[in-house]
Amino acid sequence: MSGDYNTHNDQQENINYTDHTVDLSKYAVFVDGVTSDPSKDYQSFVESLDDLDGQGSNIHRLLTAAVGVSAEGGEFMEIVKKMVFQGKPWSDHNRKHLVIELGDVMQACMALNITLDDVIAGNVEKLKKRYPGGEFDVYKSENRAIDDL
Ligand SMILES: [Mg+2]
Repeated sequence: MSGDYNTHNDQQENINYTDHTVDLSKYAVFVDGVTSDPSKDYQSFVESLDDLDGQGSNIHRLLTAAVGVSAEGGEFMEIVKKMVFQGKPWSDHNRKHLVIELGDVMQACMALNITLDDVIAGNVEKLKKRYPGGEFDVYKSENRAIDDL
């Protein structure tokens, strides 16, 4: 077994869970202090949506897309997780399932009124700027320009 923690089942009784205690009431106060009003207060949330809508953001589509990308990305990851860690085989069916989940992610294009071609073109442009020689480079990957998203 490798790794920092011995979590083999016959060692569980040796793990001391009481070493690290958190004062949950203090933590709740801290979290409340660092959380924005739109996240804590319904009226502020509605005002934020109204402001963004007034700016022409199509916020209802963006919020749907943001939730969807996260959820569908998780579904994509779940398939890969089951393959890597739980014995799910690589098969045509599972490949098709990955493609379906990727398609679900692509629905986010609707929120920005763009096509898949636009997404790919933007990605190629970004990666060409990051790797001008056309090859991956660890230094360039770790030391990105401030405008490299
Ligand atoms: Mg899905």
